Amino acid sequence: MFSFDNSYARLPQTFHRPARPAAARAPVLIRFNQTLAQELGLEVEGASDARLAQVLSGQVIPVGAEPLAQAYAGHQFGQFNPQLGDGRALLLGEVIDREGRRRDIQLKGSGPTAFSRNGDGMAALGPVLREYIVSEAFAALGVPATRALAAVATGEQVVRETMLPGAVLTRIAASHIRVGTFQFFAAQGDEDAVQTLADHVIDRHYPAAREAENPYLAMLTLVAERQARLIARWLSIGFIHGVMNTDNMAISGETIDFGPCAFLDEYDPRKVFSSIDQRGRYAYANQPGIGQWNIARLAECLLPLLDADEEKALEAANGVLKAFGDVFQDAWLMQFKAKLGVAGEEEDDRQLVSDFLELMHQGEADFTLTFRSLSKLAGGAAVETLTDLFTVSPPGLADWLTRWHARIDDDRTPAERQAQMEAVNPALIARNHRIEEAIAAAIYGDFSFFHRLVEALATPYAEEPDTADLRVPPTPDQRVARTFCGT
Ligand code: AMP
Ligand code: MG
Repeated sequence: MFSFDNSYARLPQTFHRPARPAAARAPVLIRFNQTLAQELGLEVEGASDARLAQVLSGQVIPVGAEPLAQAYAGHQFGQFNPQLGDGRALLLGEVIDREGRRRDIQLKGSGPTAFSRNGDGMAALGPVLREYIVSEAFAALGVPATRALAAVATGEQVVRETMLPGAVLTRIAASHIRVGTFQFFAAQGDEDAVQTLADHVIDRHYPAAREAENPYLAMLTLVAERQARLIARWLSIGFIHGVMNTDNMAISGETIDFGPCAFLDEYDPRKVFSSIDQRGRYAYANQPGIGQWNIARLAECLLPLLDADEEKALEAANGVLKAFGDVFQDAWLMQFKAKLGVAGEEEDDRQLVSDFLELMHQGEADFTLTFRSLSKLAGGAAVETLTDLFTVSPPGLADWLTRWHARIDDDRTPAERQAQMEAVNPALIARNHRIEEAIAAAIYGDFSFFHRLVEALATPYAEEPDTADLRVPPTPDQRVARTFCGT
């Protein structure tokens, strides 16, 4: 089924531990991502659902797999933990996809490993479905993220606050190397391992860095830039990751770990959903600052590789942190200008964007629908299409609209403007209350809404009549106040 080529398994023994998937009594395939399987070049024609469920729950180890748990450390809510690692996941192996890219095949929720500490190594059905829904929604939105190849119900019960059905997610990633992977070795003072890991990362994700005068500085710079662009993308779709610990930041620049993540309904820059983020460390608008903080932790690990002279190494690292800020600012402005339909460059553009966000905040306007409606306004729709979305109509809105109309008035036709804006302003996002609804039904064995949601989210920029109910914000009694980690 897989043509494995396992580069991570060939790294030194300190990088990983062998892992064995736990037995599952009655694995049943919930969903299999055929399109992704094709992209990965998997040979699955003729494979029955039962066979897929066996393999993708770890009951049958496919030929060539070398199941292992990866070692990593991490700052969790600012606190350093030197010993984390894959506690409920294992890397089956790596394949080279149709486009020549190396991709990890990971089973998540497949039982305890050497790094499980007190955990059971299992995943409950809810978090598995949430990750499936959101990671595939990201793919359709064009935001870099790990992918979901399959979800399998194990037939086992897992113990959380209540007993819940267990499941395994097959996660596909460019790699599962995290900021925390570097921290694991740096914290032990193992500079050789840090260098080995950095070389692996350069070969795998940043080959251009190899040509630079200082490949490690080039790598750090590229990681920082990709992360800065990624976080600008998150903000542009109203996404809150929820648990941006350094062990949940992938070196590849893909979004990873859809735990307590959530999309904004009404715009509020201080919004937090995660039940464990009591101080709002990972609030919507804090994400760029946290991204930069995490990159600083990565830079610390790499200092000995940046320059033999400590002063110079620090200077280089600080340069990267500044670059992170600059790249983020540029990317953010570019994203939001596109959302407003603004072309070219004018001095007031940043102000135009932030004034609109401020008005949305005051008027508790739904983030997604507001930008979508603004696209319609650009195409000539009545102003109420937009203003109806504001609970209170903020006094400055009319003035702002006048400024905006003047700014977008160029040689594009209204229809062209609308089409361009609608291509970057999704109509459909994975709203929290819909995810919860899909999970609630699935726990009772009804997966139909889960399937419907996944399928609808595959075309987020379209306004299909049959997905109208999925596009609207929650009613007060549908609102989800809190999201929870899968643990
Ligand atoms: P997370 O914040 O979900 O990314 O997880 C942080 C750490 O806790 C990682 O090392 C996980 O492998 C570990 N972990 C989370 N849930 C479990 C579990 N049920 N059993 C064992 N380890 C877990
Ligand atoms: Mg994690």
